[in-house]
Amino acid sequence: MIRAFLKKVGLLSDNQEQSPLIIPRKKHGISRKDISENALKVLYRLNKHGYGAYLVGGGVRDLLLGLHPKDFDVATDATPDEVRRIFKNCRLIGRRFRLAHVYFGHDIVEVATFRGKDQTSNEALAHSEKGMILRDNVYGTIKEDVWRRDFTINALYYNIKDFSVVDYVGGYADLKAKKLRIIGSPKERYREDPVRMLRAIRFACKVGFEIPKELSAPMKELKELISHVSSARLFEEMMKMFHSGAAKLAYENLLQQDLFDALFPATAKALGQTTYPTHALLTTVFENTDKRIKEHKTVTPAFIVAALLWHPICLHAQKYVDEGMTVYMARMKAIEDMLREQIKLISMPKRIVQGARDIWLLQMRLGKRQGKRALQLIAEPRFRAAFDFLEVRAHCGEPVKDLATWWKTFIDANEEQRRIMIKALGGKKTRRKPKRKKAPQEES
Ligand code: ATP
Ligand code: MG
Repeated sequence: MIRAFLKKVGLLSDNQEQSPLIIPRKKHGISRKDISENALKVLYRLNKHGYGAYLVGGGVRDLLLGLHPKDFDVATDATPDEVRRIFKNCRLIGRRFRLAHVYFGHDIVEVATFRGKDQTSNEALAHSEKGMILRDNVYGTIKEDVWRRDFTINALYYNIKDFSVVDYVGGYADLKAKKLRIIGSPKERYREDPVRMLRAIRFACKVGFEIPKELSAPMKELKELISHVSSARLFEEMMKMFHSGAAKLAYENLLQQDLFDALFPATAKALGQTTYPTHALLTTVFENTDKRIKEHKTVTPAFIVAALLWHPICLHAQKYVDEGMTVYMARMKAIEDMLREQIKLISMPKRIVQGARDIWLLQMRLGKRQGKRALQLIAEPRFRAAFDFLEVRAHCGEPVKDLATWWKTFIDANEEQRRIMIKALGGKKTRRKPKRKKAPQEES
């Protein structure tokens, strides 16, 4: 089916189907010194045992673009069990898509067996009613494996045997021409796996290609399918997007292609109101994230989650405040409501959820600085993240500028200066009766 389509649109000639374009070592410029030592070990070892061994996907794509790949994927004609027999340090993972993980300390090299032709009656390959691939464990040859890959630029194979790049789908020319092309019909490939819509955006943003019309046009119609994807896979995909170094651009593109609300419905809603500067907050956080990635600094996913859900929480809390709850209690309740809803769609490990929760709770506590509180707060493990978040809020126009400036001064102050600052705040405030408060107001 895909091949027939490719021929029709001129992406594949009879000749190409028979014999791939082989780009010799001299021409493509990939050097083994740019490939991780562990990936090379895996490739050589598979080869030594008589199996074909190729680098494929992001590793090849990024090297050809002069970028530093973040990992290297290996493809082989050895079955997962055969891979396990060769490598002692190996674990087989995934039911839906069986893979071998070869461990070198913390580094993992992912080894995928070539996937074969569509044999719908086979137990190993299963589709849902909507055409989504539920399982693909039919093994095959490199020639067959090409067609199950998503984009032509991701379907280039670096052969360890002769260091050539093998190209069945014109991916090499697409890379040079900065073209993102899906293999086959976009609609069909998105239906098979809706994550490909998100991958299209991620890759285009990461490598600086345009998202062509034929790839973006079906997104609106098919975006509902994203809710059928497992929440764990969506989490993985979101993490990759945030860590791609082009998170801000990806966020803008998700909005532009109308996909953002399929991932973060409450945040998308918040973007439509004017009480809180949601778009400014997200833009700033993604911009900072990209900057940190460029500087090889760590990125805290909890911080991004905190930013994504902060305004939905504030807005939702207002309903409870209107019902007579204190702002604090209302936000606590709203935090749990929002997390519950969001996690249904995109799961998150407990440590990330807790990290975001800590940042939110500290936003409320940072206003209470009298007595010993400021010194207690500064010693909290999440204080730094919470303070950074407060600064971003202030920068984006939330009414917490004075509070953020106070904390900045306090952090840099010595013991005596801190004592004076706390004293200047006045004594412990007597507890006020909870009163109805309209957000947002300067938080003190
Ligand atoms: P990166 O690792 O930089 O995120 P990548 O292209 O290597 O990008 P992976 O998720 O590591 O992405 O997948 C490796 C390769 O496996 C891809 O390049 C592609 O060929 C294939 N692949 C991965 N996910 C899919 C998918 N959902 N549909 C089709 N092919 C896929
Ligand atoms: Mg990869």
